[in-house]
Amino acid sequence: MKSHAKAVVIGGGVVGCSVLYHLARAGWRDVMLIERSELTSGSSWHAAGGFHTLNGDPNVAKLQAYTVQLYKEIEELSEQSCGLHLTGGVMLADSPERMDFLRLAHAKGRYLGMETELITPSEAKAMFPLMDERHFVGAMWDPVEGHLDPSGTTHAYAKAARKLGAEIVLRNRVTELTQELDGTWNVVTEQGTVKAEHVVNCGGLWAREVGRMVGLELPLLAMEHMYLLTEPMPEVEAFNRETGREMIGVIDFKGEIYTRQERNGILLGTYEKAAKPWSPRETPWDFGHELLEPDIDRIAPSLEVGFRHFPALENAGIKQVINGPFTFAPDGNPLVGPVQGLTNFWCACAVMAGFSQGGGVGLALSNWMVDGDPGFDVWGMDVARFGEWASLRYTNAKVRENYSRRFSIRFPNEELPAARPAQTTPLYDVMTRDNNAVMGDSWGLETPLWFAPPGMEAKDIVSFHRSNDFAHVGNEVRAVRERVGVTEIANFAKYEIAGPGAAAFLNRLMTNRMPKPGRIVLTPMLNETGKLIGDFTIANRGPDGAGERFMVWGSSAAQIYHMRWFEKHLPADGSVRIHRFDQTLVGLSIAGPQARAVLDQLADTDVSKEAFRFMDFREMAVAGATCMVNRLSYTGDLGYEIWMPPAYQRRVYEAIKDAGSAHGIVDFGMRALLCMRLEKNFPTWFRELRPIYGPFEGAMERFVKLEKNDFIGREAAAWEKADGPKLRRVSFIVDAGDADVMGDEPIWARVGDTDYGTVEKLHGYGAPRFDASGRAISGGGANGRDADAAAVRGIRDGAWRVVGWVTSGGYAHHVKQSMAQGYVPAALAEDESDGLFEIEILGQRRPARINTLPPFDPDGARMRS
Ligand SMILES: Cc1cc2nc3c(=O)[nH]c(=O)nc-3n(C[C@H](O)[C@H](O)[C@H](O)COP(=O)(O)OP(=O)(O)OC[C@H]3O[C@@H](n4cnc5c(N)ncnc54)[C@H](O)[C@@H]3O)c2cc1C
Repeated sequence: MKSHAKAVVIGGGVVGCSVLYHLARAGWRDVMLIERSELTSGSSWHAAGGFHTLNGDPNVAKLQAYTVQLYKEIEELSEQSCGLHLTGGVMLADSPERMDFLRLAHAKGRYLGMETELITPSEAKAMFPLMDERHFVGAMWDPVEGHLDPSGTTHAYAKAARKLGAEIVLRNRVTELTQELDGTWNVVTEQGTVKAEHVVNCGGLWAREVGRMVGLELPLLAMEHMYLLTEPMPEVEAFNRETGREMIGVIDFKGEIYTRQERNGILLGTYEKAAKPWSPRETPWDFGHELLEPDIDRIAPSLEVGFRHFPALENAGIKQVINGPFTFAPDGNPLVGPVQGLTNFWCACAVMAGFSQGGGVGLALSNWMVDGDPGFDVWGMDVARFGEWASLRYTNAKVRENYSRRFSIRFPNEELPAARPAQTTPLYDVMTRDNNAVMGDSWGLETPLWFAPPGMEAKDIVSFHRSNDFAHVGNEVRAVRERVGVTEIANFAKYEIAGPGAAAFLNRLMTNRMPKPGRIVLTPMLNETGKLIGDFTIANRGPDGAGERFMVWGSSAAQIYHMRWFEKHLPADGSVRIHRFDQTLVGLSIAGPQARAVLDQLADTDVSKEAFRFMDFREMAVAGATCMVNRLSYTGDLGYEIWMPPAYQRRVYEAIKDAGSAHGIVDFGMRALLCMRLEKNFPTWFRELRPIYGPFEGAMERFVKLEKNDFIGREAAAWEKADGPKLRRVSFIVDAGDADVMGDEPIWARVGDTDYGTVEKLHGYGAPRFDASGRAISGGGANGRDADAAAVRGIRDGAWRVVGWVTSGGYAHHVKQSMAQGYVPAALAEDESDGLFEIEILGQRRPARINTLPPFDPDGARMRS
């Protein structure tokens, strides 16, 4: 074993081997994988080996498509078969709601280049004759699904990595990790110590233990998972004989079942409601190639449904039941990337679908380690998306919830109940008990979404359509626009960045000029490639010894992500200090034409229009409590954000309500706030603004000062400006029915033959196109469907083409319009004509018109008033 390596990957499951391969492929040949036992000694060896490209997050879906595409490459390089069977598969809908869900997934697939098709139950039966079609209302066909040999695939990655010069050391446990002052890691193993620049935790079932070696409590948990294999079935053999094809994969949501052909029989697995964690606190080091005791009773309810839906299975003999553990993060997506607060310590853990996602995880992580950036939008699986509140107990509750809901529909207005409340502000009981608020989970913090009137149960009726909150959110919006409202804004990220180097540091990171004392600016933040990685409000608090103090507000969910970036760029001379407040600073916002009148009664300072101007920042007493106040509001109205330590929040809130009563003040929630920002065309972080867009694409040019000083991403942004952005963020007025957009809907345009570049190229990759024997396929997959690829993908229809995608939207109650924001080719972004665009909502194409000016207060007079 070598004593030095550029990077040591801990763990030889499918994920560790993929990371090793990608590092070597990216040119880091001096890399080493250390495995406790043999390769695949965690969950990888007993996997069912299924793979697919569909994922709720389009960016994760792209990385899954890459994973599937990669198998041919590693097979060729390693000369090791992955045992690929690209059979295609169907998802079966048993209810209209599930069919709506499939319509959404299908529509999303249009701009990702996926070739899914909505089909009838009889069409599905022709591909999978074991099903009784009377139980279903429809289905979705996906040609890029199949299964593989888990062990062969893991070894193919490993052999390919070795061919590129990587070293693999087996039967050698890593027992300790320490770091020298110069950042070098000591990877202490049973066979000696390796000095490494980088360490990657691919410990799979033991990832928590490897994390604990460096003081980390990673939010992941292993769950028991069962699948069974039948004896050979005559029905399967007959189908193979008659069609010359293998049976396809099937997901039956109602039964929480996935199934596919295995040899001459069937493999059937379940994600049962009675989900069971395995070894919840720690994983024993002596656990190895053993399986867990099967527990058929636990999956009996799913099997009962399965036998009804697939009657032939009831008579099939069961050859074997596999029960094995594998790990999940609280939201079911992987934990990937560098860990904030540690240098060169990386994670690729909690990969619950290693054979769908392992390649994408390896690619993203190796890009990140080698180039400093993952190269894609990997937020959905970034290890930084969880905060301190994601404790062992939180993780346990959330993972069980996620596992048991794997095949359940998540409605756009659905808040999940497990592990709540995790964090509350001092107003929690006032909001829930006195004000009848419907609460939502905002990065672990309970936040009011809307307020139900007295006597009504404070509960969302979950739906893809407008629901029971519609009228009440409308009332909140109207009250703010006509009078005044107050809302909690504790769920923002808040930082103080101070010291002699603070101004220079922020000027280097941000695209806008930093404000003068007492003033505020809005500013995006870019990565080196000129893509949006943040959007902040920054106020100058004034002098701080030799430097200045800046208050910075951003997206709550991105605070670990942003701290990681801030710390990476901190000057080594200690001239900049960063403090993240999290819930030690909370906030209230008052907005509406009477907002000044309310504040005036509570402040001991002059808050007149002249003394406290739009985009001013003041430290002042509000109701006698020391607060920081920003004169701005995300509602786009006259408004103030008032920030204070939690100890003052109740008193300030009560004083605002008292002072506001004469003006008809109301409480309003997050839903009303987000609705009001829509009618101002304001973007939101993670929906409109993400690392796949440049600042000019995102229509943020007002906040990008290319000439101010050299900032990170400036050169790339200058190129984007000079070349002209390819895409452009726009707002639409939509002729919607009783459902508004939710995000991720395709945008169609009547553009005839004009080609703006295929949408899947604009958005990222298309899906792979090869069959099990490596032959390229166009359009259909192994079920023999063959048609024009673009038509199958549904991105063309006569003169209409899919040209873009929706990022978010909803009903804008004040202007009484259904609105959407999204991205379209820049050449179309100014065209406000009727009849040019349609947005596909729940399978129906609805007319939409670009609205370049915000429908509410287009010249900003209200917020400046
Ligand atoms: C029953 C079952 C069915 C499944 N079906 C599918 C499926 O159909 N499709 C799919 O995509 N996924 C499936 N999975 C999930 C899949 O198995 C996992 O996503 C995948 O195995 C995760 O791989 P990994 O490399 O992260 O972890 P693991 O496979 O657990 O590998 C971790 C490795 O790290 C090593 N290690 C840990 N700590 C140390 C240390 N300190 N020193 C040295 N080595 C260490 C371990 O020995 C182990 O080999 C299934 C899982 C189960 C249990």
